Amino acid sequence: MIRALIFDFDGLILDTEGPIYQSWAEVYAAHGVDLPFELWVKTVGSSNDAFHPQFHLEERIGSKLPQEVIDRRIERRVELVLAQPLLAGVADHVASAAAMGLRLGVASSSSREWVSGHLERLGLLAPFQCLRCRDDVEHVKPEPDLYLAVLDCLGVKADEAVAIEDSPNGIMAAKRAGLRCVAVPNPLTAGLDLSGADVRLGSLADGTLSELLQQVSAST
Ligand SMILES: [Mg+2]
Repeated sequence: MIRALIFDFDGLILDTEGPIYQSWAEVYAAHGVDLPFELWVKTVGSSNDAFHPQFHLEERIGSKLPQEVIDRRIERRVELVLAQPLLAGVADHVASAAAMGLRLGVASSSSREWVSGHLERLGLLAPFQCLRCRDDVEHVKPEPDLYLAVLDCLGVKADEAVAIEDSPNGIMAAKRAGLRCVAVPNPLTAGLDLSGADVRLGSLADGTLSELLQQVSAST
């Protein structure tokens, strides 16, 4: 029986992935360097441990980026993220889950400040009983720590929860924690290998939550 729904944040609730990529791609372009997408995707759903865009660019141009360039990149990221609407179907699924009595959590490799700040701004913080972010665990995704921490907080077992993710790193984290997983890619992750998920949707607006849970149950 499914008792909980656990959402990823970046690229799933809000399309922050496009803006973060774009903010760096603009800095790279200003220095005449291409931002290699195949290296970039290692960071998506995870951290900069596998690929650090600033250090990579500094190595390519043979000098340190001035602090004002780094600060301006962060401002540009914020500007682009704030222009993003809540992704389609998210609010409906959260409301349906609450109405169905499901427990709700967020598992995110980003900081708690980033996740709770945006959720609050979007009026979507209150429905989630548990948020677990990079501040709370030793290892972010693709390790299972974040999902295990949310399961523990919600008081449900792995086979009672469904994860919703947009990236290969997120899907891997959910599967390693023993959850069933629904992939809902955004333009940046749609071309990546999401085959680890049990169900793949084009958008959360493709159908109702009841239909999605039936699909998940039928897939396993
Ligand atoms: Mg994500």
